[in-house]
Amino acid sequence: MKAEDFQAAIKQFEDAVGKEWVFATDEDVELYRDSYSPLWGEAEEPIPSAAVAPDGVEQVQAVVRIANQYKIPVWTISTGKNLGYGGSAPLLGGSVVLDLKRMNRVLEVNEKNHYALLEPGVSYFDLYRYIQDHGLRVWIDPPDPGWGSPMGNSLERGGGYTPMHDHYDAVCGMEVVLPSGEVMRTGMGALPAAKTWQQYKYGFGPYVQGMFSQSSLGIVTKIGIWLFPEPEAYVSGTVMVWKRDDVVPLVEGFANLVSSGVFRGTTTLASPVWFGFGLPDAELDPIRASGSVKDLEDYAARKKVPYWSLPLFFYGPQKVVAAQWEYAKEKFSSLAGVEFQEGASYHFPLSKEERAKVTDPVQIGIPSLQIFGLLPPQSQGHIGFSPIVPMDGKALIDALTVFQGVHQELGAGRAVLTILSSFPRAFVLIDLFPVERDVEKNRKMREIYRRLVKEAAAHGWGEYRTHTTFMQDISNTYSYNNHALRRFHETVKDAVDPNGILSPGKCGIWPKRMRKAESGKA
Ligand code: ADP
Repeated sequence: MKAEDFQAAIKQFEDAVGKEWVFATDEDVELYRDSYSPLWGEAEEPIPSAAVAPDGVEQVQAVVRIANQYKIPVWTISTGKNLGYGGSAPLLGGSVVLDLKRMNRVLEVNEKNHYALLEPGVSYFDLYRYIQDHGLRVWIDPPDPGWGSPMGNSLERGGGYTPMHDHYDAVCGMEVVLPSGEVMRTGMGALPAAKTWQQYKYGFGPYVQGMFSQSSLGIVTKIGIWLFPEPEAYVSGTVMVWKRDDVVPLVEGFANLVSSGVFRGTTTLASPVWFGFGLPDAELDPIRASGSVKDLEDYAARKKVPYWSLPLFFYGPQKVVAAQWEYAKEKFSSLAGVEFQEGASYHFPLSKEERAKVTDPVQIGIPSLQIFGLLPPQSQGHIGFSPIVPMDGKALIDALTVFQGVHQELGAGRAVLTILSSFPRAFVLIDLFPVERDVEKNRKMREIYRRLVKEAAAHGWGEYRTHTTFMQDISNTYSYNNHALRRFHETVKDAVDPNGILSPGKCGIWPKRMRKAESGKA
């Protein structure tokens, strides 16, 4: 666009939200760069042109109207802590960041029906503090780092650890500013005198709430989130098995516990001998490199390090959680050589002294930044390649072998793989890459990442979410019937956002005016 039009738009943004809430100097814009960008310092790194921070729905509407007038692309963030997925930076360089951090009011927390109604800028820490300050007996479900927002994390379909771990599934009712500037409420919120906006998701007619998740179709200004009533108790334990193929019956038993509702949290299925977060190990590393299953099994038996370990967590009435853990042990007792280890258990509410001793706060709904201490020390950030794979032991072995193979073939050493049950019925496998401010290393990382995307798709494993750098690659893999899904997304995009102002390129969906030029780039 012409420089004078951009200046005129900036002036109008200032009139709409106040001069001090429009950031257009290089110094200010620097703060909106993605500090985990795999394109850091390269010509393609998308740098925003400015940021605007409104403090209410009317101001959001005004910003949207100005963006339409000048056809300025706008990229929405809530707290912008979506590190590993793009952070506070847009996908398209030159976009204006719509920073909703100032809209940080907790509008309601309902202790009897267990929900909250929140503005975008409320962080998990903010919500937790509000609940503590008001002495309410409800739990939030934070993801690993607690400084992001329930809004951003739920819209992006993130996950936590307690029974409310599937964050998008816990959403009930939204208020959305549409690209036209109009305000819409979903579900029961469409009923002007609604009494159940946060209690019944579906409302009447086609269900559109999902269209605003991982989406560029609207700016969500209020969100309803279901909370968990503070449970009486928590018990945990770990199931350990010693041979590689034990994962088949182990996962079969686990899938049954999940689908029948006995296990309702998120677990991390680990293979301490095969891969993991561990530091280099002089004895184990050569065995891993040789790929010999027998040698790994011998090591497991000799060192008493399980081939597979499956931690389980139960939340609820004391009698029920004790019975659930007993039931799980009974189910798994038929596995050869299986061993069980008792883990932490708690009674709620915790006293101050008990709380201070908790080593796994996120597991019991307490937000934390502890996760950053676990990341590899040399990295300046990280990015996850995160395909969804079947909750099936054989499929897991296949996927892990394929991904390890790509790392080995491209000469990048051992992969750091995590298997999470963040969503019901399937696993999400996270292959964690360090990102560094080193152009060559990041180029290599992108090469491996893109290979993984292709290999995964060829096997029928697709990513659940990705960094802005790879959104086009992932979108390209969801191509059934000549991209019928993407063409449908584009049809909706063109109808709802004819000027193509909202988050262009998000998840590989480009507005008509940019479609040809941009979509072929990945
Ligand atoms: P968090 O608050 O968890 O740090 P972000 O603010 O980084 O999350 O948002 C993550 C992504 O979610 C953004 O890049 C954007 O695509 C989408 N998003 C966040 N907030 C909104 C919103 N209020 N309306 C629409 N999309 C949003």
